[in-house]
Amino acid sequence: GGEIHARIDGPLVMIGFGSIGRGMLPLIERHIRYPKDEFSVIEPTDDYAHILEERGVRHVKMPLTVENYESTLRGLFSPGRGGGRGGMIVNLSVDVDSVAIMVLAQELGVPYIDTVIEPWPGVYFNSSLGNADRTNYALRERMRDVGRKYAGGTGSTAVSSCGANPGMVSWLMKEALLRLAEDTGVDVSRNPTTKEDWARLAMTLGVKGVHVAERDTQVSSTPKSPGVFVNTWSVDGFLSEGYQPAELGWGTHERRMPPGGRRHDIGNGHGIWIDRPGGDTRVRSWVPTGPQLGLLVTHNEALSIADYYTVWDGDDVAYRPTCHYAYHPCNDAILSLHETNGAGRLPKEKHVLAADEIVSGNDDLGVLLYGHAKGAMWYGSRLSIDEARKLAPYQNATGMQVTSAVLAGMVWALENPNAGFVEADEMDHVRCLQIQRPYLGSVECHYTDWTPIRDRINAFGEDHDDEDPWQFTNFLAL
Ligand code: NAD
Repeated sequence: GGEIHARIDGPLVMIGFGSIGRGMLPLIERHIRYPKDEFSVIEPTDDYAHILEERGVRHVKMPLTVENYESTLRGLFSPGRGGGRGGMIVNLSVDVDSVAIMVLAQELGVPYIDTVIEPWPGVYFNSSLGNADRTNYALRERMRDVGRKYAGGTGSTAVSSCGANPGMVSWLMKEALLRLAEDTGVDVSRNPTTKEDWARLAMTLGVKGVHVAERDTQVSSTPKSPGVFVNTWSVDGFLSEGYQPAELGWGTHERRMPPGGRRHDIGNGHGIWIDRPGGDTRVRSWVPTGPQLGLLVTHNEALSIADYYTVWDGDDVAYRPTCHYAYHPCNDAILSLHETNGAGRLPKEKHVLAADEIVSGNDDLGVLLYGHAKGAMWYGSRLSIDEARKLAPYQNATGMQVTSAVLAGMVWALENPNAGFVEADEMDHVRCLQIQRPYLGSVECHYTDWTPIRDRINAFGEDHDDEDPWQFTNFLAL
């Protein structure tokens, strides 16, 4: 269906026209009303400029940099161009500092959304920064600090990190908690509304931790060539996060730090990092296709969820779930990472699999809630490439889960224009999923009696904690 969910009355500026930006275009056209002559895309390459031309979208062909972002964006929102009011910024780029653009959006008085907290170049690769400063914890603390100036009601809405994950998984988490409450006889007749309510519900349910558990089975008919890094979404984005330190939200049930585990000395301490790259760190996890090894790649939601679901007792932490990503990317990306790790150099050639190259497969992306009365429960979206192709052009199943979350976040921001800086955990999950659900394929709930210590082919006398299968050190597969 092509229901119009929201309208924009001023300039609409999208930054970046990569795999997600391109997928966004048909969804914006379908569900948002906006002035056609006020839609601009800032994109330095002209690889896909023909799509913009065909659809009558202005192409501002340049990279945003620390020197030019302000004048460029102010120019696009100048009084002659509708004066900014009523417009919106949708940031889907790499290498553009999210917080800088969020602050400028406040000054311009326009809503803003992105899918990741991105810094200017220099943080991710060949960085002189120490590991603590290269974490998402550090990036997120900075965003939250700046955001305090624009708390709800005093600033226009700037949605941080609202794609599939981070983003949609925070909304699925709430549906999953309500489902688990229903299935275990916990009364939720008074629906949780505040952060405190939700955190208490997770504590009452005894959820020890959450994996953002993903399996991408999309395959191309052409085998990957050696040396080419292949993925189903941004190769640059994946390499950036893959070579940040492994990172997770750190729950109150954890008894032992993992080898190389480190605590932060800023913020409230809801996360830890490990002195090794997340893209080369494996964790045991479970998705509806079965048990699997996922990668402990750092992600904003690992921190935002652990922080949001913390139950505070004064300055003490009464409860917090562990939370991290457990990502099995597509087969070609696993092989690409293996090559890149072996080479110790970034790949020269990169390729994102387009919808028409993929012959089969799914993206299964959900939350795995574990340690509660029913063991473990996966709740999430199972979207096939065939279905994604039917739903909208220019994207595979992975992209569809992301762009539909950005759409939902855009609509929520336009409906709630004065919320200040927010993350997906703080948005109305019911409204957001109502908009997104038509694009998610099958949303399923699966219980399993799997634990990370249940199955081994041979016993090697590994050091595991048999008293509590849900300890993080049991998941870690070194
Ligand atoms: P992509 O690599 O396909 O595209 C990024 C685009 O940004 C490219 O077209 C590139 O030319 C452009 N770009 C590079 N430097 C720029 C600059 N200085 N100014 C303006 N544009 C610039 O990436 P993608 O797959 O489209 O992903 C876009 C972003 O969304 C990435 O940051 C990625 O990490 C993030 N993402 C988030 C999620 C999520 O679920 N939250 C999922 C996928 C991607």
